[in-house]
Formats: sequence, C-alpha cells, structure tokens
Amino acid sequence: MSLHSEGGERGLLAALSLDDKVRLLTGANNWTTHDCEAIALHAIAVSDGPAGVRGTTMDERNPSASLPCPSALGATWNPDLVRQVACALGGEAKSKGIDVLLGPTINMMRTPLGGRGFECFSEDPVLTARVAVAYVRGVQDAGVAATLKHFVGNDSETGRWTYDVRLAEQVLRELYLVPFEACVREADVGLVMAGYNMVNGVTMTEHGYLLNEILKREWGFSGVAVSDWSAARSTLATAAAGLDLLMPGPSSVWGKDLIAAVKAGDVSVAEVDDKVLRVLRLARRVGRLGPDAHPGSNGSGVVLADASLLRQAAAAAFTLLRNEPEVLPLDLSRGPRVAVIGPNATHPITQGGGSATVKGASVSLPAEALSDALIAQGATVTIHPGCTTWEIVPEPPVGQLLDPDSLEPGTRLEFRAEDGTVIGSEHRRATMFTWWDRLPRGVGWGDRGTIVLLTRYRVTQTGAHVLGAGGVGDLSLRVDGTVIAAGTTLMPDDPVEAMVRPGEIRATLDLVEGQEISVEVSLLPSNWASPPMAIRLGIALAPDEDALLSDAVTAARAADVAIVVVGSGAASESEGFDRPGLSLPGRQDELVRRVAEVNDKTVVVVNAGMPVLLPWADEVAAVGYAWLPGQAMGDALTDVLLGRAEPGGRLPVTIPRAEADCPVLHSVPEADGTLAYAEGLLIGYRGYDRAGTEPHFSFGHGLGYTTWDYESAAAEGTVLPQDGDLAITAIIRNTGARAGREVVQAYLEPPDTDARYPVRVLATFESVTAEPGERAEVRLVVPRRAFARFDEGTGGWSWPAGEFKIRIGRSSRELPLEVIIQNVPW
Ligand code: BGC
Repeated sequence: MSLHSEGGERGLLAALSLDDKVRLLTGANNWTTHDCEAIALHAIAVSDGPAGVRGTTMDERNPSASLPCPSALGATWNPDLVRQVACALGGEAKSKGIDVLLGPTINMMRTPLGGRGFECFSEDPVLTARVAVAYVRGVQDAGVAATLKHFVGNDSETGRWTYDVRLAEQVLRELYLVPFEACVREADVGLVMAGYNMVNGVTMTEHGYLLNEILKREWGFSGVAVSDWSAARSTLATAAAGLDLLMPGPSSVWGKDLIAAVKAGDVSVAEVDDKVLRVLRLARRVGRLGPDAHPGSNGSGVVLADASLLRQAAAAAFTLLRNEPEVLPLDLSRGPRVAVIGPNATHPITQGGGSATVKGASVSLPAEALSDALIAQGATVTIHPGCTTWEIVPEPPVGQLLDPDSLEPGTRLEFRAEDGTVIGSEHRRATMFTWWDRLPRGVGWGDRGTIVLLTRYRVTQTGAHVLGAGGVGDLSLRVDGTVIAAGTTLMPDDPVEAMVRPGEIRATLDLVEGQEISVEVSLLPSNWASPPMAIRLGIALAPDEDALLSDAVTAARAADVAIVVVGSGAASESEGFDRPGLSLPGRQDELVRRVAEVNDKTVVVVNAGMPVLLPWADEVAAVGYAWLPGQAMGDALTDVLLGRAEPGGRLPVTIPRAEADCPVLHSVPEADGTLAYAEGLLIGYRGYDRAGTEPHFSFGHGLGYTTWDYESAAAEGTVLPQDGDLAITAIIRNTGARAGREVVQAYLEPPDTDARYPVRVLATFESVTAEPGERAEVRLVVPRRAFARFDEGTGGWSWPAGEFKIRIGRSSRELPLEVIIQNVPW
C-alpha cells in the first residue's frame, strides 16, 4: 500500500526519522526547502514578491512582469482587480516553478518615511485587510501559496533587525494585527513570515504569544510560520514559540542543535511533528507531495503576468488629486503643443528597491509613450528633463554599450581568481548585478578573486561625463586601460542596502560625440564569504542644472500644455533604509513652480511610492499620483491623461502639507533598542483627525472624470444587530458628463470622546459605476467587529454602548451622508 493512502500527511511521519524530520524544517538553500524521496516530497521553491515574482535568481536573462507596487494596488481600493492581478502573478510564479510567493507585505504605513512603505497597501488596517485578502486569494487561486509578512510591527527599516516595538495589546489588536487576522480567517493564507524585530521585549521568531497563542490557537492558522531570512537566532525559544520553518538554509540554528534538544527532552517530538505536518500540508497544497507532484520548472514555458491587465491596474491606481480647471483629460483640439518635462518623464522609478525588485522584461517610459500617443493625434511634443535627481550615477542605456568580447550590445562579466586567471566569463545585457546568496556557477567562496565588468561605451553627446563604479569592497575604474578612480567602499548597516545602492567611486571625463571608450570596473568584494554582493557601472552626462531648468521653462512657455513628471530618485525608496525626508529630491519643486509660472495648463504627475510634499499643488492645474506603477507606467499614464481610462485611484495614505503635520515621522529606535509606538492608535488620518490638522490631500481622496452627488443613506434598523453585520444602503448619482466609478467610503465615529481613540475609522467601502445622470445604489456592509474595542482586561472584544455615527462619502474628510446606530447592550 502506498504511503500516500495511509491517513494523509500524518501517515507520512512514521516513515521519517528524527533527523529526516528536522532536516525538513530548514531550507535546503536560499530559495528551496529539502526534498525527501522516501515520502515523495519534492523541494518547495519560494520567491520574493510582492510586486512581481523574481524567481530564484536576480538576472536580466530571467525577466519578470513588474506590477504596480503595493501602495498603488492599495490606491485602487478595488479588491476584485487586485485579485485578478495577484492571480496573474501567481500564474507567472507557477510557470517559473515557484510554489510560494513571499508576499504580500501587510505592515502599516506608520510613517510616510518608511523605506518599505511602497511595499505596503495603506496606512489603514481595514483597507489593507481588504486588499490583502484579495491579493492572497488571487495568488492562491493560481495554486501558489502566499506569505504574509512581516509578522508583526516591522513598519520601518531603521534598526529593523533588532528594534523592540513597544505598544499596547489594544493597539496591536485594533491596528497592526487586523490584516493578518483577516488573511488567516478569510483567505486561508499558506504562510506567515515572522519578522526580524521584537515586540514588547520578545523577538518575533521567538514570540510564543503572537505565533502560538494568537496566530495558531486563536485564529486557527494551519499553515507554516516561516522565519524572515536569517531572523531565527536561537534553537529552543524559536522551536517552542511556534516557528515551523527556518530560511534560508542549509545551516540554521535548528539542524543538529534541534535534534540534540529533542533527545535531551527540551523540545518534544510532538512539537517537531506539528512543524513537519505543516510543511507537508503546504507541500501537498502546492502540488509538491505525492506521486502526482508537479515536475517543477526547467526554465521553459514561463508565462509572464498579462501586460494589458497590469496596464489597466496602473491606470486604476492613478490618483488624481486636483483638476482645476478641468485640464484633464487633455483636449488637444484646444492646444496641440505639449511639453513633456521632468526627470521622471525620461527616467521613471517604476519599482521600489530591495527584495521586492524584479528584473523587468520591458518598461514603457512616460516621455516615449506620451509623445507617441500625442504625436499620433497631431500634437507636437518636446521633452526636457528639467533637472536631475540622482545620487548614484545612472546606468547607461544598454544600446550605447558593447561587450568587448562578443561585440553584442551590453557588457561582459568576468570572475577572476586571485592570480588573475579568468574562472568564468559571460555576456550580459545589464550594468548592475547583484548576488543575494551565491555567485554564479564555478566561482567559489573565499577566493579573494575579483569581479570585473567590461564594456565599450559609445558617446552620443559631447561634454563632461561622470563615471561611477559601485560595489562593496576595493573598487577600481579604468578607461582605455588607465585607472581613473580607485577606492574602498564599506558595507552599509543593512546588507540589503549593499544591493540597492552600494558605495560608489567616481571620476569625470570630457568626452566627444562619436568617441568610443573601453570601461572596466573591478571589484575585490570585502565579503567574499558572506553575500550579498553587487557591482554596477554608471555613466551620465555631467548635468548643468541651470541650463536643464531654463530649457524646460522655455519649452513650457512655448507649449499649450506642460506635463511635468516628478518624483522619487533612483534607489531612494527601498528595503534596508528609511527616507530622510518628504521633499522631492533635487530642484524639482523649483522646476514645477517655474513651469507653472509660464504655463497655466501645468499637469504634474508624481512618481513616488509614498507621500512627498507638494508645496506647489495649489498653483498648478492638475496633480496626479502615479505611484511606482511597474512596467506599464508610460502606457497607463497615457491612457489616463488622454481620457482613455478614468483615473481610478483614491489615496491609501494621507499627503501632508508639512513634515511636522505627520502623526509619526522619523522612526528611530532609542539607544536601548526600543521603538515606542507612543501615538497608539493614532497613525495616518486617525492622527490628523484627532490633532485637528488639515492634510494637504486626505486619506481616501481621489477624483475621477465625472462628479457625484451623495443623495441618501439608510441602515437596516437603528440598532446594532447583536449577531450579525450592519447593512447600509447609500444612493449616489453621477452628475457629470462621463460614465465613472466611485469609491463610496463609510467611516465609523464611536460614542466616546476619549482622546486616545481616533475620531473616525474606515469601516468599509464599495465601488459602483454609473452612466451620466444615472443613480446607483451601494450596499455597504459594516462588520460587527468594526464597532468593537479590544479589552485588555478581559482579553476579548467588547462593544461600547451608545450612539455610533456612520459617515459616508468620498474621502475621510468629505462625508456628506450619515446614519446613526445605537448599540444597546443586552
Ligand atoms: C526581507 C523579506 C524577504 C526575504 C527574502 C528579507 O530580508 O525582509 O521580505 O522576503 O529577505 O528575500
């Protein structure tokens, strides 16, 4: 009789020795688990997300679809669309042989400076939960397991490996745990990743109360609790706390130490069995256990997520903040001369940095996509960057480079032994290379060898050029055989930063159009024995910022419409570090102001994953947030600006007028490592409302291309149902001239006025579409739990008595309708 017919996964345990079992509880390498032939268990392959599925290498030869970043998905307020996008992502993962996606990230945008804020959905737990549940369902619809990360309180990057978040249980329960709970209870998520940080004095991989008590016992999580990469730092405490799988492997704090602990009676066999069962159930779920297991991927048959869906999603995320006087959608019959301006028009930032980054297959650039579409409609278009924002020298276009060996466009990478012998050599079509876990085949650790990047660069414009060589270790930069820069760079505090913006050495050279130079970057890494590692080449014309600015202003003056694409600089929004401030980098504010002075139809597009200050917003005709929109940026922007698609986004995060207005800004642990969440429940709009601070643009705000009247709202009864959710019907009417979609938002105002509580919280939302003049009925279901408070005394939920106000409208500050509900305790 086959093992697989004897009582499911539990029946398999008997066929495993203690050694076998413990082996299954640590990864086999960075991205796969161990297999076990005796029970027909195949290795489970995992890959980072959440804005694409990278696969097990970071390599332009294995490209990935690049999705709108999660803050953009949050901005859609459209769970159905998010589910479709996530399902397409799951499908791509499956086709790459990936069984587990390391996403979604469902931490909170506690501070707008959070480096990974772009990777989160919102500053609000209800919006996060709704989008996250849809995302998890979508990924899992495709047969791939999703991973919630990072459980819990990993809401900023500074000190993330160790900081100790101090917060009340009520705040955990009502804010930070909400999306995790929803995805466990409603979406049957496959894995939960325990973060690096501590919560109330206990590191998350050892947090028995949060992992065992709350996640597993209270919520009934039956999946795998996996460590964040190298987050498990003890044997007994992690085993006892309910962690199931340590990543990466093959070495970890379990292995032989866990076997010894079981033999010594410090960890029970039953505890080990529970972990193994969870891993086996996961393997079964993703088709990696049993005789019918899928064969894995041989690299062929990869199907990238549908590009047209990603384009639709990027347009649906575009959040139009201002459109006065209705300059959008663009009407070229009223003026066909368009100036496309801004550093991000030509060098957009389409994704954030760190583990969420993928090597995209292709990107539609705003300047190109816009000018193609505009010229096709008879417009004339000029393109001017206006200023630069880079802090590390931009990578040159591959088309200007030649591999000196194969003479193909691109570069050559060589791996040289200490004595200079070439161990490996390959042609590449990139100028930045990162190795997370291992070097390419044939290159061993501890070699003290060098990585060399070689190319021939064709100069297309006469002038001074800045050349930069990046990496961590001893660097040298040679041009035509002569060393022009050399130096040593240091490992940043967080190793991920070494892969996103490694230290750089630079030199400036005068070059002439048509000239060809040979360039060689050589790196002796300081960390041969422990990745990550990166090498990069940058080459750019040395900017004359005054000239860039005045050229852009001249173009704007001569145009009927100026479209200015501003935003984050390269490698500024990333895992591994927080942002230093909220202002746009470089002279972008000055650029927008000067363009607006000469062109009253200035449309500003902000290309950033998180809030930036928009001090000129009231002086320009239109402002829209494009977020970090992934590969479809240019096409989606064109669709929205030309009115082929309605801007669908609503802010998932508040945009402040000034840094000082933010309820939480810099998030830096104290010298003793503690990070007090002193604001309690009052993050995001909850903090603005409580402080009476006027945001620049409110949470939930976003304009479409039509207008709406909020006519009426009525609840089913006036008393909160004792055993069910509350249904409300709202009637709205499309009062504009175009069909449109409206996101109807319901906020709950509790009876008490205790200053520790938010004035109002998002309770639910729904969207409707309607034709011009048409009325639409929206059914809003407010879950009974929305009315509850976590009572630390009883350790349970309680429902305050009294009058709740439910306010309905189009943002947290524009709420024309209201319904009163009494909670009468029995
Ligand atoms: C990140 C995780 C990521 C993991 C694997 C960690 O440093 O925090 O989000 O999934 O690395 O790349």
